[in-house]
Amino acid sequence: MSAKYNVDDKGMYGRFGGAWVPEMLQPNVDNLKKVYLDIINSEEFQKEYVALLKDYVGRPSPLYYAKRLSEVYGTNIYLKREDLNHTGAHKINNSLGQILLAKKMGKNRIIAETGAGQHGVATATACALMGMKCVVYMGALDIERQAPNVARMKMLGAEVVAAESGNQTLKDATNEALRDWICNPEDTFYIIGSVVGPHPYPDMVARFQSIISKEIKDQLKEKTGNELPDYVIACVGGGSNASGTFYHFLDDESVKLVAVEASGLGVDSGETAATIALGDIGIIHGSKTYLIQDEDGQIIEPYSISAGLDYPGIGPQHAHLRDTNRAIFLDATDQEALDCALELTRLEGIIPALESAHALVALKKLKFTKDNTVVLTVSGRGDKDMSTYMDRFNL
Ligand SMILES: *Cc1c(COP(=O)(O)O)cnc(C)c1O
Repeated sequence: MSAKYNVDDKGMYGRFGGAWVPEMLQPNVDNLKKVYLDIINSEEFQKEYVALLKDYVGRPSPLYYAKRLSEVYGTNIYLKREDLNHTGAHKINNSLGQILLAKKMGKNRIIAETGAGQHGVATATACALMGMKCVVYMGALDIERQAPNVARMKMLGAEVVAAESGNQTLKDATNEALRDWICNPEDTFYIIGSVVGPHPYPDMVARFQSIISKEIKDQLKEKTGNELPDYVIACVGGGSNASGTFYHFLDDESVKLVAVEASGLGVDSGETAATIALGDIGIIHGSKTYLIQDEDGQIIEPYSISAGLDYPGIGPQHAHLRDTNRAIFLDATDQEALDCALELTRLEGIIPALESAHALVALKKLKFTKDNTVVLTVSGRGDKDMSTYMDRFNL
């Protein structure tokens, strides 16, 4: 476990992170901070969690040698197939971990916020499995835009509550969820979907997603005799699939960590979610990190074709990895991601999520040798994006 790149006992990653929450929320956050490590590291928790990951999620997810893709880029590319998980992405790893934690803490009501609905679906799924009451806050505009995921959440038994304030998107849903948590500290657990929010959330979510890099090491060792690749690549919205992909490689400095953020119509277009490229330091969702803001410190509404990447901030660990130059940050436009989604589909028969397609763009921007080993996490499958693909590819 990396001391240099992981959270310190004050909840900081270098100068980022912390728990900048209203006073009324402090007791909830403090309580979680006090118990989370003991519970997560207990034998009983691990036994239950590992069993669910195996038999319910379908882990380990395969590490697939993509032969035709490798030929095109003149190197050796392995795909970590999070798209094959139950519910079609990596988010379930985290939702299951947090719901087990909630149960051990004696909570019986779960709240969450969601933008595109992917985290809402993963959390509603975990709640159905555990017989927990589930309330998902979602911006009123997002509810309109993401009808299939809203229907999934409802079918799974969740109550979907519309946030009618502000721009009626993710930020407003987050405010509603925090308000709920303040009012219901006794019975309610707040499940956050990425490596964002006040400490201990970024660390907790990274630990639950770290199964990705643990498996990559084991699987690479088995396939190549060497557990260390030359590159690991993942897309970043808040940054949870990237954190999970990097986690067990943080101290292996020979492994290049590559994160790809969404630049929408272009970094300088005004329609972008390229936080690292554009961001200044500020506080968002209780955490100090880079975020896209105007001169008055107001958060600028982000844009990406991919609903899972249009977050105006980035997890504090990633901000620290950028400050220390431990990770390489690239960006990919809508069009670049679309081109790569089609390329992967035609070369390997795998339709990726639009988010994951951004990670593929890194293959075009980095220079590999024929002996390199490159691992790229396919964070999710493309089913949810078919209407966009139909539209953009004239299908
Ligand atoms: C939500 C989502 C992402 C972005 O979230 P991170 O926390 O950055 O991983 C990426 N890919 C898929 C498929 C998603 O659903």
